[in-house]
Amino acid sequence: MAAALHLSAAGVRVRLVTEGGKAGYLPGVPDVILGRARASRFRVPLNLPQIEVVAGRAREVRPKGVRIGGDWMPADAVVAAPGLTLARQRADPAAGPLPCWDLPSAARTTARLLDLERGTVAIVIASLPYRCPPAPFGLAMRLSRHLRERGRGVRVVLTTPEAHPLEALGPEPGTHLLQACASVGVEVRLGWAPAREALARGRLVGEDGKPLAAELVLLVPAHRPSPLLAPLAGEGPLVPVNHQFETHWAGLFVAGDAAASPYPRASGAAIASGKSAAQGVLARLGLSEKEEGSLPQLDCYVGHGGDIYSRLSVRYPEGPPPVGHPQVLIDGPSADLGTEFGEGFLRWLRARQPGAR
Ligand SMILES: Cc1cc2nc3c(=O)[nH]c(=O)nc-3n(C[C@H](O)[C@H](O)[C@H](O)COP(=O)(O)OP(=O)(O)OC[C@H]3O[C@@H](n4cnc5c(N)ncnc54)[C@H](O)[C@@H]3O)c2cc1C
Repeated sequence: MAAALHLSAAGVRVRLVTEGGKAGYLPGVPDVILGRARASRFRVPLNLPQIEVVAGRAREVRPKGVRIGGDWMPADAVVAAPGLTLARQRADPAAGPLPCWDLPSAARTTARLLDLERGTVAIVIASLPYRCPPAPFGLAMRLSRHLRERGRGVRVVLTTPEAHPLEALGPEPGTHLLQACASVGVEVRLGWAPAREALARGRLVGEDGKPLAAELVLLVPAHRPSPLLAPLAGEGPLVPVNHQFETHWAGLFVAGDAAASPYPRASGAAIASGKSAAQGVLARLGLSEKEEGSLPQLDCYVGHGGDIYSRLSVRYPEGPPPVGHPQVLIDGPSADLGTEFGEGFLRWLRARQPGAR
């Protein structure tokens, strides 16, 4: 949407193709898991007066157009931003770990959580990279508070493959998350990753073959490239791009979580990459000079339970990594930041549906 708005403001005719003509708000996932909101609250029709929204599933993207179903939609340049896809596993939700890192899968976990009276819930981060690095820690803290307030004797354990959380951002954010988790009784197991092949069969064991004892496992699954971009992806799930988010196919740009940028998978990075890709399109069409690209401003909100949130803000004053280093500011936890997080959703909604409440 950032790319579309930037191009439209420059006088370019834009068509925005998205499934069902809708946009999704992923920071709503924990609310859905905890049964505080329905998934439909966070998946809304796009109503953008200045942009033509095409409801459909793109099947193929090329520099000169997009295939939607059997139809070919020609274009002078294409920006693809389909996000990331979650790895699938054996379809036996009663026996295995429950994926929970998008809105439909989050909705399937709620009833199972509400049924749990005692035992252990494990939140397992399968691998890196994943969307919004601090968010599983926030989910664990909110879940722990939520279950305690309901008198359930349920312990919450979080596992991460990292030796220290959010390592790429330096030691402070991880230390903040570990201390916050300890203060609400969440046990964090560092350096623990599930064995990949067993997980694909729906079994959760560590790489040492030992099982993780838990009555219920919520899984942040491995992230895969969108099928739309699979031919372009590198070794991991991300698509290699240049500083203007152009792929090796001139005229085809990839923005958002799917692009192999040096930033975390967060919406501030997605917005900046959309603007950079739009600048790249304008340069390729001869409508402007090449520009340096936009630096992201990341603000991730971490729930501590009871509508208390902290905020991790990441800036890049020295330029993009690896030359520039991330500067991290930690605010809160406080109830004011909880209010700010709620207002963030309303701003997101109104940007997609002017007049929405
Ligand atoms: C639990 C959670 C909490 C988060 N919290 C924060 C936070 O506090 N702060 C923050 O900055 N970031 C947060 N994020 C990360 C943020 O949501 C993502 O970085 C951001 O949404 C990425 O935007 P995107 O446009 O690349 O992808 P997405 O948001 O995934 O959007 C991709 C869109 O493309 C559509 N699409 C996919 N394939 C096709 C196709 N073939 N044809 C048509 N349409 C298609 C999808 O339906 C979707 O609407 C969070 C993420 C999660 C999961």
